[in-house]
Formats: sequence, C-alpha cells, structure tokens
Amino acid sequence: MLDALALPPLGHLDPAFGEVMEEVAELLRATFRTANRTAFPVSATGSGGMQTMVDNLVRPGDRVLCGVHGLFGERMADALARRGADVVRIEAEWGRAIPTERLVEAAREPFAVLFVVHGETSTGVAQPLDALAEACAQHGALLFVDCVTSLAGHPLDLDSAGVDAAFSGSQKCLNCPPGLAPFTANDRALERMQGSPSWYFDLPLILHYWQADGARAYHHTAPTNMVVALREALAIVQEEGLDARWARHAKAHEALRSALRQLGFERIAPEGEELYPLLAVRLPDGVDDVTVRGALLAEHGIEVAGGQGPFAGQAWRIGVMGEGARAPVQERLVRAIARELNTDATVALDALHDGWS
Ligand SMILES: *Cc1c(COP(=O)(O)O)cnc(C)c1O
Repeated sequence: MLDALALPPLGHLDPAFGEVMEEVAELLRATFRTANRTAFPVSATGSGGMQTMVDNLVRPGDRVLCGVHGLFGERMADALARRGADVVRIEAEWGRAIPTERLVEAAREPFAVLFVVHGETSTGVAQPLDALAEACAQHGALLFVDCVTSLAGHPLDLDSAGVDAAFSGSQKCLNCPPGLAPFTANDRALERMQGSPSWYFDLPLILHYWQADGARAYHHTAPTNMVVALREALAIVQEEGLDARWARHAKAHEALRSALRQLGFERIAPEGEELYPLLAVRLPDGVDDVTVRGALLAEHGIEVAGGQGPFAGQAWRIGVMGEGARAPVQERLVRAIARELNTDATVALDALHDGWS
C-alpha cells in the first residue's frame, strides 16, 4: 500500500486514473456493503465526509435527531447546528451505547434525519443500528451514519441496516494514510441535494468529476496518489474478506483486553457494547497517564491515545485497527506497558496468546 503511494503521480484527468476511480468506487461499494451508485472518497479527512453529508443532505430548518455519546456525536451536533438544522440531541453517558428504545422513542415525532456514530472512537463503544431504519421509515426520514472507525473493523452492512448515507476515513481500519473520506449515499438521500453552502464539498459538482459518464469535469485536483493507495488498501480488505477481517478484529480486541486486565486495566465499554477497533481502558490507580504514555512513545515507538472528555487523564484508547490488530504488534505493546509499569509481563502475555489461539 505504501509502495502505491510512492508511484509517479497520475494526472487527475488521465484515463488511466479514471480506471482507478472506477475500481475504487466498486471496492468501496463492496466494503460498505451497498449497491449505491454514489460511492467515492471525498478529498479530505473523515471530518470532510461529515461536512459533505451535512452541507448536501441536510437543509436549514430540518429536524435532525443526533445521537451524542462521545466526542464525534458532539462534533456532528455542532456541524448540524452550523447548517441551521433543528438539532435534537439523543444522549447517553460517555462509555455507553445509546439505548435503541431511546432512539426509537425520540423518532415518534416527525423528523427529517436520524444520525448516529456507529463506532465512537472517543469511548470505544459500538452503537447498534437495529430498528433505526424502521423508525425512520415511519416519517420518510433518512438514517445517516459515521462509520469512520468501524468500516472494515466492526460488522457493518449498510444496505441491510437501511443506512441512507455514511462517511468513513482512510486512516482507521482501512489502514491507509489519513487524507480521504470514503462516502456513500443512496438515491433517496441524494434527492435532498439542494445548494451546498460550501463550494468545496458541493456534491453535484464533485459527482460531475467522480461519476461522469465519459467526460469528467474538473472540480478540484484529486489527490491521485492517495486514491491509488486507497485502491490498494481496499483491495487488501477484500482479499482478506470482510467477515474474516471483522472476526480478526474481534479476536484481537478480546485478546488484548484479557492481557491488559492482567496488568490492571479494565475496559470501559460493557460486554456487548464494545467497538472491536478501539479498546478504551481505565488506568489502574497509581499509573500516571502522561508519563507512561510518553515513555511508550519515546522508548518503544508505540503511540497510545489518551482519554477524551470525562475520561481525560483516566483512560487510554488503544487502536486495534487493520495491521495493528495482529498478535505480534499486541505482544510488543503488552511487553512495553509491563516494562514501563515495572511488572512482569508473563501472565499478561499468556492471556494474550490464549486469546489468539
Ligand atoms: C477519526 C474520526 C472522525 C474524524 O476523522 P478525521 O480524519 O480526524 O477528520 C470522525 N468520526 C469518528 C468516529 C472518528 O473516529
């Protein structure tokens, strides 16, 4: 994949690049598990996928039910308010999924869009999508999802879940550098397109480039090397197979969880609400967050993210994403943490190996 990044750049209107675009669209459909014609990477990070969704598929005054149970739900609520939507926050405490009944209950009154974050990276919680499409259908409303962290790491089938539009990011479980935001929307969602307030994220203009039959019209210069790298990353996902990839992330998550438990770290997400690609754990008493994470980076070259929001200083967020969801990588991490805590790693390593066997 990194070799693909280093190839001589193709021109953004070169027919050879057009073929790459077609392949990327097809691979994205397979990865999102959707038949949507519209599937392409926005030239921006994951948040640019969110902006594309908000600018094009939400109208000022729309009543939008927005699930908020962490940083990324908050971010969406902010973006929706800036767009002039009538935002109704459906909340759960950080570290928990939003109860489905609470979302369905909120969907009794008419509304235009229900948005949820499928994988809350700030807390390591997966949001079930069951029953949400049905709740939307009663009002002809649409279901929108942020799957930045969950795509290709946690079970997700957009069409079966009845999701109308979704965005992701290249750098999480797709295992590509940051810089592209895979995006998809079905025809029902696209019917809402009506004058994006931003020029850069204007979907009709972008689709004249991405979906032109024959003549692709220049809008902005596509980051061609990134798109070529994404093609490679998506091909790797398909080669492994989505089901096998989800199973590997599940196994890696559980193995690391049981190893870290031996070192005194407990997972924040309760059983059944965990997000495979992100393990968020509470720090044991007496472990200094900044000192130990600093040592992991400086001495071992391992980056562990700190807690966010109410978990700042009290939790670690450990990626279990893509090639990071492998036994040897986790073994290095467990050894490094044990070393920095001045404890023996044996029991934790045994738990890790049991988890993988
Ligand atoms: C990372 C992330 C984003 C934002 O993506 P950027 O690439 O940082 O812009 C949005 N939502 C979730 C759930 C994420 O994990």
